[in-house]
Amino acid sequence: MSGQKDHANLFDDARSRLEEVFDAIEVHGDARERLMQPSLSLQVSVPVRMDDGSLKVFPGWRVQYNTTLGPAKGGIRFHPDVNQEEVTTLSFWMAVKCAVVDLPYGGGKGGVKVDPKQLSKLELERLARSYIRGIADIMGPDRDIPAPDVNTNATVMGWMADEFDHLARAKVPAAITGKPPELGGSHGRVAATGRGALHVLDLWAEREKRKPEETTVAIQGFGNAAYHFARLAHEQGFRIVAVSDSKGTIYSQEGLDPDAIMEQKQRNKRLHDMVYCDDSVCIAEDVEKLDRDDLLTLEVDVLALAALENQVHEGNVDQIKAGALLEIANGPVSSHADEQLEERGVPVLPDVLANTGGVIVSYFEWLQNRSGERWSEEEINKRLAERLVRESELVFERAEKETISYRRAAYRQGIERIAHAIQLRGNCQDSE
Ligand code: NAD
Repeated sequence: MSGQKDHANLFDDARSRLEEVFDAIEVHGDARERLMQPSLSLQVSVPVRMDDGSLKVFPGWRVQYNTTLGPAKGGIRFHPDVNQEEVTTLSFWMAVKCAVVDLPYGGGKGGVKVDPKQLSKLELERLARSYIRGIADIMGPDRDIPAPDVNTNATVMGWMADEFDHLARAKVPAAITGKPPELGGSHGRVAATGRGALHVLDLWAEREKRKPEETTVAIQGFGNAAYHFARLAHEQGFRIVAVSDSKGTIYSQEGLDPDAIMEQKQRNKRLHDMVYCDDSVCIAEDVEKLDRDDLLTLEVDVLALAALENQVHEGNVDQIKAGALLEIANGPVSSHADEQLEERGVPVLPDVLANTGGVIVSYFEWLQNRSGERWSEEEINKRLAERLVRESELVFERAEKETISYRRAAYRQGIERIAHAIQLRGNCQDSE
């Protein structure tokens, strides 16, 4: 699921970032061993009865990556390119990410290899339920807590939560996050990833003494994470000059209004009561239309990557003209491209910090479900901001003090925490 790959193996590419951290912070041998591979990797068949009466079986996975700090936490992706390696890599990033922002979680990720947009709404619901039946044995509030990711949203999480309740013969809302608020979902969860990314951008801009109104932004992807980021950044005065989705890019030097674009995109969805929005940003009027990947090479102050992994890679990194990169997607910059950008002095606000808003509010949802409380959106946003300011400042200060990139600083912060916990568990941890 990517553009050109620098390494044949996405997971090897992701793990290669560990070696530098291990040496820099002198990680104990036990922790090195534990961190190099997932704790548990499950492949399941996901059978679905189609509307025409036929049966289709899709392959699915759930991977738990180092659960020393707590239960596994991470989203479920429905996409035709999903495979075990991708899910493993995404679970690895989740483990690092949760530790970077000090959450009591390990890494988790799940996926089904399917094109969900080819399914009817009922087929999609059967798929979601069937997947949960496949992985239910390793799930639960103290074991592994799934959440939304690409092509899974609150509607899908609602079906999954209902299926898990049926299997458990109990109400277990804390087993899944990203649910609709009526089913125990948290206020603020839908916008959390975008809101969190904006906090990180703001903190960086403040340090750089850069004002929003003097900052142009191009955003790759216009899905859940990107839309809320775009909306909030626009409100704050950032000039969003371009956005793209899988079908193309729209551009306006004067700036785009994300709400107006979303409004046009959603019109058909509302009309047909669909789970997904089929229309592209390219339906927007009075804007210039460009090819999809033209967005990546625009001359802007900030290039926000909010689509999929490996979008900036060996083949296009030389053409990147943005002043800084903000990673809202997971792994959008390959390690090779990352090194090139570092050499050129282009700052990258890394995924393991910049896209943690979603998992932080998922953590708040889990806390509310466990205590039976309900916090206001204001309360959620306040807690999200507090945590992100605290943890981002630690990363920024470390980067400055050790004269390293933000990514290296974030990885050191996260891996240090996991490695320390592994050591504290003693010398005889032969099982999880
Ligand atoms: P989504 O399915 O809502 O949106 C994905 C968007 O990317 C769609 O608009 C799609 O058209 C677009 N896209 C796909 N390929 C593209 C391409 N080559 N060029 C331009 N656009 C392309 O997914 P999402 O939930 O917004 O997630 C997006 C990214 O953010 C993923 O990497 C996901 O793992 C990451 N993320 C999401 C969350 C969350 O809470 N949703 C949290 C953390 C990280």
